[in-house]
Amino acid sequence: MKRRGFLKFLGGTAIGVTLGEAGFFALGPRSDPAFAGQRHDGLLHERTPLSICGGCPAGCSVRLRIVDGRVVGIRGNPACPISAGGLCARGASEVEAFYDPDRLLGPVARDDGTGLRRVSWDEAQKTIAGALEKARSAGAPVRVATILASGRGLTRCVAEAFHAEVGSPHLYQVDLLRDPAARAAAALGLGSEEPPTYDLSRASLVLSVDSPLLEGWLSPCHVSALFGAGRRRKEPLELIHIGSRMSATAMRADRWIRCRPGTETTLALGIARVLLREGLASDRALARIEGLEDWTDAEGKEHPGFARSLAMAYSTQTVARETGVPVVTILDVARRFGRARAPLAVGERLAGSAGVFGLAAVSLLNALVDQIGPSRTVVPRAPSALVRLTEAAVPSAPLVRPPTVALPGATIASVLAGLQREGEEPPFDVLFLEDGSVLGGLEPGDEAWKMLARIPLIVSFARSLDASVELAHLVLPSTTPYEQVSFVEAEPAAAIQAVAMARKAIDPIVDGRPIGQVYLDLAKALSLPLAKHYPTVEKVYDAQLERLQGLRRGTPYAGAFRHHWVEEQERAGWWSPQAATPEAFRRAVHEGGGWVDPVAPSGMSESAPVLALGRRAGAKARASSRLYPLPANDDAWMPRDELAGQVTGDGAGAFRLLPFTPSGFVGYGTPNRPSLLEYAGPAVLGAYRPWVEMNEHDGQMLGLEEGDEVRLISEHGTAPAVVRLTKLVAEGTVAVPWGGCTRGGGRYAKG
Ligand code: SF4
Repeated sequence: MKRRGFLKFLGGTAIGVTLGEAGFFALGPRSDPAFAGQRHDGLLHERTPLSICGGCPAGCSVRLRIVDGRVVGIRGNPACPISAGGLCARGASEVEAFYDPDRLLGPVARDDGTGLRRVSWDEAQKTIAGALEKARSAGAPVRVATILASGRGLTRCVAEAFHAEVGSPHLYQVDLLRDPAARAAAALGLGSEEPPTYDLSRASLVLSVDSPLLEGWLSPCHVSALFGAGRRRKEPLELIHIGSRMSATAMRADRWIRCRPGTETTLALGIARVLLREGLASDRALARIEGLEDWTDAEGKEHPGFARSLAMAYSTQTVARETGVPVVTILDVARRFGRARAPLAVGERLAGSAGVFGLAAVSLLNALVDQIGPSRTVVPRAPSALVRLTEAAVPSAPLVRPPTVALPGATIASVLAGLQREGEEPPFDVLFLEDGSVLGGLEPGDEAWKMLARIPLIVSFARSLDASVELAHLVLPSTTPYEQVSFVEAEPAAAIQAVAMARKAIDPIVDGRPIGQVYLDLAKALSLPLAKHYPTVEKVYDAQLERLQGLRRGTPYAGAFRHHWVEEQERAGWWSPQAATPEAFRRAVHEGGGWVDPVAPSGMSESAPVLALGRRAGAKARASSRLYPLPANDDAWMPRDELAGQVTGDGAGAFRLLPFTPSGFVGYGTPNRPSLLEYAGPAVLGAYRPWVEMNEHDGQMLGLEEGDEVRLISEHGTAPAVVRLTKLVAEGTVAVPWGGCTRGGGRYAKG
């Protein structure tokens, strides 16, 4: 660079910095015709406020770049302990969803036969309040139900309080980032209604039993950050992946154990058997697992314990024959797992659940190596750091506390079926849907869809066109986290507790409202105490800030150094507040983007039993599992999956369906994010088209070529798809992406 150029460069920088501190940059006049007609004074006003990513329930803190009132960029917040400054593809695509051309501009109502028409918020609120009042005046309990997709945050906090005060327990939550069977498996084996947290920061070896570990599971940014940090450690984190498809996780693993499709659980139980036989399970661990030993029932009848049953049914040779994995590999994986310093097995999936007993087999692996409990790699969840509004507002009021049941199978169909089993007539008087993702791919011909269509009033909070809009009588578009105060209790992949908190970063660009505010306004219309204490979502936000400060632990987000410092102090039994007054605490939380306790309290004592196996455990869990039917027999604990079908040259025979969730497709609603469709490749560019991956050999047998259009036929229906031929999927299997697109979906979903 020449001297003159250097001086010019320096001068420009100095001006930029000076004006930047004043709150804006001089970036020169705009000539872009897209801005024609707007205010034009030659200056662009730039702000970079903190906000929360709404791409999934993980709760990453983000920093927006807003130029002249438009969001033009987004990046991770380096002080956030969840993302560590990272941003996944889905998080980056949030800007596309924010400016989605199919975003709903304001409330709409569906009049029978006349389509949608714009209504005012007042009219919409009166309609809902009227329906609820009518139900209340009939004397019976108000039959209102809510199905949410977001995690533990503002919406759920207010919805819980609302349901508690109207006396309705029907508040449901779709777990978009976790295996739908995880909750039932936790109730069955661990005796807890909350699935555990996996502490990747502690693990030295991860055994992935067909889990989408690096494809958007649990807390995508946090998992990526911890995996990267683990790889850079002096003793690098080792990853062994068991599965039949070359997924992104398999690709990045140190070892990919390719088994026959559907035999992953068999392999996990085979490994458990080797751990027991070779004495790789610790005595302490064995003492804390119920059901391993032979037992006698009340009538004096002898039953083989789990260990004996396992030895009889899962000899290494049998497992090798069924899974196609050589004996020597099974032994080697079991020994590596059993001897690792801090092993961790994970088996949850996002699509095509591992099932309750598949997850129980993975839990058994963790239990045998004594890795369930405080300071282990599988950590029972700490109670929420957030306050329940009903407790804060009216501590002594007799309230029905809604359980917030996670939906097994992640669909409303399961809820309806579960309620029918209990003898309740499922349709409610009023049903609130967070958006189309909670419908989990329901189609108008489905029984559950027909049942829903009988509900007198369905209210959707969808932001864009989706399946819920097709069903709803009223659509009240919600604001994004950028456009409102917001807090989310993060879903971490380590034993920490974190709550992302942010003020409104930008004024709403549509006539939308926070979902929480809709509930609070309804509470006011129904004269519920909730509205008196919390007239606005800002008050709810303030209550949570007060709560976090009152916990007297943790710290506002402040970066890795401060977090480590607080961790060291807390482990030594100390805590020093970073901000002593409420005002200072509020400022520190806003400057950091949230609050974190690096040493989350454990939800389990050191000596508690860690796993219960077999019939007795099943009986206990069946009593508490309202919605997941659990079989009574011990055999269910040792599932043997059906092997892939044999397909002959004329196409006869059946393929095994292997659903998977491509990275970035987590949480449905992908069609309004065209950049995410690019990840899926040319087959779906422009508009979403589902594809099917199959082995090249199978393709040849059926005379198929890359890009051919086929129809997938199963007992549940048919679906069109584009063929992709690959060596990376086992023969006899068709791998189908799940979560890319739902009904409705706007312009990018239309093929
Ligand atoms: S992990 Fe979830 S919350 Fe975090 S950036 Fe990605 S989509 Fe957003």
